[in-house]
Amino acid sequence: MSRSDYETIVGLEIHAELSTKTKIFCSCPTEFGGEPNTHCCPICMAMPGTLPVLNEKVVEYAVKAGLATGCTISKDSKNDRKNYYYPDLPKSYQISQFDKPLCNHGAVEIEDDEGNKKEIGILRIHIEEDAGKLNHNEFGSGSLVDLNRAGVPLIEIVSEPDMRSAKEAERYMRKIKSILEYIEVSDCKMQEGSLRADVNVSVRKKGTNEFGTRTEMKNMSSFRSIVRAIEYEAERQIEVIENGGTVYQTTIRWDEVSGKTFPMRDKENADDYRYFPEPDLVAIRLSDEYIENVKKELPELPESRKLRYLTEYELSEKDSRLLTASKYLSDLFEGALKECGNAKAVANWILSDISRILNEKEMEADQIPFTASQLAKVVELIDKGTISSAIAKKVITELFENPQDPEIIIKENGWIQISDEGAIRDVVLKILEANPQSVADYKGGKDRAIGFLVGQAMKETKGKANPGMLNKMFVEEINKI
Ligand code: ADP
Ligand code: ZN
Ligand code: MG
Repeated sequence: MSRSDYETIVGLEIHAELSTKTKIFCSCPTEFGGEPNTHCCPICMAMPGTLPVLNEKVVEYAVKAGLATGCTISKDSKNDRKNYYYPDLPKSYQISQFDKPLCNHGAVEIEDDEGNKKEIGILRIHIEEDAGKLNHNEFGSGSLVDLNRAGVPLIEIVSEPDMRSAKEAERYMRKIKSILEYIEVSDCKMQEGSLRADVNVSVRKKGTNEFGTRTEMKNMSSFRSIVRAIEYEAERQIEVIENGGTVYQTTIRWDEVSGKTFPMRDKENADDYRYFPEPDLVAIRLSDEYIENVKKELPELPESRKLRYLTEYELSEKDSRLLTASKYLSDLFEGALKECGNAKAVANWILSDISRILNEKEMEADQIPFTASQLAKVVELIDKGTISSAIAKKVITELFENPQDPEIIIKENGWIQISDEGAIRDVVLKILEANPQSVADYKGGKDRAIGFLVGQAMKETKGKANPGMLNKMFVEEINKI
């Protein structure tokens, strides 16, 4: 058998930190960072005798996430203790949800590898608390515990094992990220660990119905690593099977540097966690009216924004889809558009240069350092003829390095477009003198020669000459010869 006789099966457990102001069971801030152990209190530090109180906003955000992913919201739900010991978990249990999660059986739509629409099932969404963080070797040997993150609310979105390739898994996770960003329940900053996934992978021979044994990689927080890890792990499992071996259900670790996976520990089963109902919290009962009200508050989702872009701004289907795939890009587009009024130009800059630079720098849209106003200003400066699009490209690059008012950028770099007739005519005459062959070509009917001459003039002025004026003046001056 060969590689192509197998198919890859992927299921994701996505953890998203909710952007509520306070933690799930106390009133400490959820804000990222801060000096270690400054966002804590006796409750999230697990002092004996403290009692948790469930933050209502956490339930509301989780219900929003459930509604936006087509889940059924449970009116009768509860919290459970998941018991395990780890130094970053001071209670030695995590308050989570076991058999009665808040949301059940949803689905989101993605494209499969052939570009066809495909549904990925969501088994459940439940709420739970995040653990603290261990800082290893910061002061010599040993580790230090930082409990700022302990008690930050999470939702865990458990997918069905419906994905059939690494790329499908990436598209599914991007879709979830986009939805959570749109409904504003999580900032989804992967670089800060706000969005991470446990990745389950198995393989099976095509045509069989049984799933193979899966391995699980915990806490992955970059799309690139997820794709590479799934591809590597599927290959590894196929090789094991082809060599007559057995894949064991274990937790494995992806090592980014070597590009390989390594075994970590045997897989725990649910009974290893000795789940039981959390005795310090009451059950969560939701009314139809409550669920209905949350539904009414859901903001505009990507699909309807896309339709608006098609009709209101007359953007293409593809451009509308690309822009609305990320709330950050979509907000950047709308913010800039509001100020400069040029939808096509803003869309073009976002989808060409800005997207290219994001790609090159391996950045996500939420890391764009400049504002919508600054982008709008670039478009206005082009529209007014102050800068050419060649210069605008440089301004955009500069905005990533040193975001500030584009007018200051072009002044400081001396990038203002030359639109002075006298100055342009000087350049035109100089280029004509140096290129008699092009002049002859043009007179002989080769209109393309003008393009070459304009190109030479742009080179001469380092992209600063106004190309429209150059074009016009070359024709004028040649006709005089
Ligand atoms: P646990 O919480 O112990 O990890 P679950 O049964 O809740 O276990 O499953 C976790 C994830 O594993 C789910 O996202 C599910 O889709 C995925 N999964 C289950 N079976 C497989 C399989 N054979 N191959 C790949 N993924 C799987
Ligand atoms: Zn606290
Ligand atoms: Mg798991």
